[in-house]
Amino acid sequence: MKTSPATTPPETAGARATAAHRSSPRRVVVVGNGMVGHELVRRLVAADVGHRIVVFGDEPRPAYDRVRLSSYVATRDVTALALAEPEVYEHPDVQLRSASRVVAIDRDRQVVRTDQGADEAYDELVLATGSRPFVPPVGDGDGPGCHVYRTIEDLDDLVASVASGARRGVVIGGGLLGLEAAEALRTLGLHTTVVEFAPHLMPAQLDAPAAAALRRHVEALGIEVRTEHATKRVVRAADGRPRALEFADGTTLDTDVVVYSAGIRPRDELARDCGLPVGERGGVLVDRTCRTEDPHVWAVGEVAAVDGVTHGLVGPGYAQARVVAARLAGGDGEVPDADLSTKLKLLGVDVASFGDAKATTPAARCVVVDDPVAAVHQKLVVDDDGRLLGGILVGDADAYAVLHQFHLGGEPLPAAPITLLQPAAGDAAPALGPAALPDSCTVCTCSNVTKGEVRAATAGGRITTLAQLKAATNVGTGCGSCATLCQRLMEHELEAAGIEVDRSLCEHFPHTRQELFDIVRTRRVRTFAELLDGWGTGSGCATCKPAVASMLATLWNEHVLDAAHAPLQDTNDRYLANLQRDGTYSVVPRVPAGEITPRQLIVLGEVATEFDLYTKITGGQRVDLFGARLDQLPSIWQRLIDAGFESGHAYGKALRTVKSCVGTAWCRYGVQDSTALAVQLELRYRGLRSPHKLKSAVSGCSRECAEAQSKDFGVIATEKGWNLYVCGNGGMRPRHADLLAEDLDTPTLVRVLDRFLMFYVRTADKLERTSTWFERREGGMEELRAILLDDSLGICDELEAAMADHVASYTDEWAATLADPQKVARFRHFVNDDTPDPDLAYVRERGQRRPVFDHERELLPVLATSGTGRSDGQVGG
Ligand SMILES: Cc1cc2nc3c(=O)[nH]c(=O)nc-3n(C[C@H](O)[C@H](O)[C@H](O)COP(=O)(O)OP(=O)(O)OC[C@H]3O[C@@H](n4cnc5c(N)ncnc54)[C@H](O)[C@@H]3O)c2cc1C
Ligand code: SF4
Repeated sequence: MKTSPATTPPETAGARATAAHRSSPRRVVVVGNGMVGHELVRRLVAADVGHRIVVFGDEPRPAYDRVRLSSYVATRDVTALALAEPEVYEHPDVQLRSASRVVAIDRDRQVVRTDQGADEAYDELVLATGSRPFVPPVGDGDGPGCHVYRTIEDLDDLVASVASGARRGVVIGGGLLGLEAAEALRTLGLHTTVVEFAPHLMPAQLDAPAAAALRRHVEALGIEVRTEHATKRVVRAADGRPRALEFADGTTLDTDVVVYSAGIRPRDELARDCGLPVGERGGVLVDRTCRTEDPHVWAVGEVAAVDGVTHGLVGPGYAQARVVAARLAGGDGEVPDADLSTKLKLLGVDVASFGDAKATTPAARCVVVDDPVAAVHQKLVVDDDGRLLGGILVGDADAYAVLHQFHLGGEPLPAAPITLLQPAAGDAAPALGPAALPDSCTVCTCSNVTKGEVRAATAGGRITTLAQLKAATNVGTGCGSCATLCQRLMEHELEAAGIEVDRSLCEHFPHTRQELFDIVRTRRVRTFAELLDGWGTGSGCATCKPAVASMLATLWNEHVLDAAHAPLQDTNDRYLANLQRDGTYSVVPRVPAGEITPRQLIVLGEVATEFDLYTKITGGQRVDLFGARLDQLPSIWQRLIDAGFESGHAYGKALRTVKSCVGTAWCRYGVQDSTALAVQLELRYRGLRSPHKLKSAVSGCSRECAEAQSKDFGVIATEKGWNLYVCGNGGMRPRHADLLAEDLDTPTLVRVLDRFLMFYVRTADKLERTSTWFERREGGMEELRAILLDDSLGICDELEAAMADHVASYTDEWAATLADPQKVARFRHFVNDDTPDPDLAYVRERGQRRPVFDHERELLPVLATSGTGRSDGQVGG
């Protein structure tokens, strides 16, 4: 039992037992051992007032983290869902009766009865029975293949149902939980559709433009969305299993599995049966102290209707548990207004909504950033005094944690709202960081921990990892949405104190990327699951999954869409194409060194014409074909592969291009054949996955027409051979490359490059460019030369061998995809429906098609949709 100040909540601490309480142990019965029931027991034990606590739970195991339940689909690991301090049930004063349901309350005798017929007397009774999923009245909707999504057993049933041959799944309900359930179905390998009755996704939290941006992200994951569809009945096959859904408008949708996620209903039947009042919309009626009209009966969590209102989030439940624990320990306190902010937990989809997100407060003003190219929609709602009333962040929710704090704290924003989302010209980052928050702000609302408490916990470097911070303060152990902010706060404090910061890849792996890379390499780990099993915890996240996917691809070069690797990929890698602002994809075939035959140019033109793709020559000497629908990608690539093209990896953190000038082949100044070398290098390093994308160039003389010195590795011809430059960068923070070696002959150049690239991919941090990697290394160029040219670490043979393995194992990802029907099957938008997405609309500009901007939709009454191929409508010039 922990009673340190760090784990004892302020209310409970303030309500330390009086002598009277200690001398008369009271019997507290808690009905319901879910997240909030557990929090209550934990707090009661921490209060240390000598209560005798009996907890009933009708699930077969102690409370677990329901918020992270979805991770169970991938891991099937119950232990990974452990809540803070599971050992409270070993305390001598606590008795947990799992698999035991309370069926009646006798308030006169102060006794509860279980389904096994046993009676338990109480002095104080706390109802923490949570909610049950609401199953809408769908005809024939209760039977095999139809599921709810609430407990581990529910997920076991769902997994068993999928295992019995399901290929398609539908989630009824496009709210927060529905999308999570859809992601789970997708993880299980089903083609998944979300059906929502309202006009858009997450109707409770988002407005229409934000929901449109979210829809694009969700569809990019391969999840189909149908809004404004009311489900009428489940059509069943002869064997009784679902075959389709029929909607109110008479249309149908084929499916083998149905998951309901249409809301929840409080499990308030015990209270109703014993005559306690319930709220208009259900839930046990309690006041702000969480007490019912019976002074000895309390209610907390999703079953409680505080002042008539129930909440489906864990944060308000934890606040209620704190109040009841404090009051049962002789203290006081009332629950504050509930914080209803939400953050979606889908891999790769950033969505957050908080406060008055829909700007219903009188005189509220909105600052909106809408970047259709990046599918980012952000909105801040502010009042006249510059206070943040609420907001919505879709596509980029990095600022959520800090903004959310300003909303909760009610302090005026420290800068113009727009600069909190977008950097001012010349600034590297938005003007908002953890340092801007006052100490008094509550950074973790679930556990009620302030920034000041986090700072106190980390002071002097006592705590250096997020896991330690969680254990000491409970931050991030509820809904988990504050974890990033708390990590940043901790790092900020440590760095300010001159203490080295833990650079673990993420909370699931207590290792740096470099350490993990070494583990994968030396222990020959082949899958994410194997790595997690041996060296990690939990189920992984959007940080570690793609990072590990990249390491596995660098080392073993297995196809990124193989069953074990596909779920780890970011959106672009998932479809081997770049997602663009209208939800279509761009196609970039490799054109090594920019050298292309006339025949290939013609094929590119033919494909672009046939699929009405917008074409553009890129800065890296390739042709980018824009506007392909997901389902068109395989046909387009088949045509390109037949013409000798292969994947240009424009979607991946991998080698992109080796640009070249024409060198001695045509140029009168050239001193070496820069094109031939660039082709050789591009073919050698194609497909090499790396922490960040890699670009390169070769110039035929010091006039530098290929701009080799702004590249990750660049080569410039000399009279005697080649000069090699490394760690340059174009982009937002340009950096001139540094000279690594001079006058190399071609085989030596290739050897040094093999070493350089392999050394970088092994030792860089996640998403670290060569330029930042180089700047971070203390030894500078001298050290790099010693390692790569003089073999000071004795690793050069190994680095060269690793590159030789890469070169030998290279296969074109698109050719391999097309050869495998299971992989091709991923490239489908609407499985049973060829109708083009009605949201796609284009104008013609300078003779080509481009997606409309939202303001153009209103101006132009008739716009061309993508159709199945050519666009007929010609709007514009
Ligand atoms: C998949 C999923 C994802 C979620 N994600 C989030 C999120 O991101 N953020 C967030 O804030 N919230 C989220 N939630 C909601 C969050 O899990 C709940 O708010 C929280 O679990 C409520 O806790 P509770 O203790 O009130 O209810 P529960 O956790 O449901 O616990 C109630 C317990 O009481 C038991 N019980 C009921 N009746 C009896 C009886 N008569 N006798 C004995 N036992 C009984 C039930 O079996 C259950 O074990 C999510 C929920 C799900 C299902
Ligand atoms: S870099 Fe030199 S060789 Fe290449 S095109 Fe320019 S002038 Fe010619």
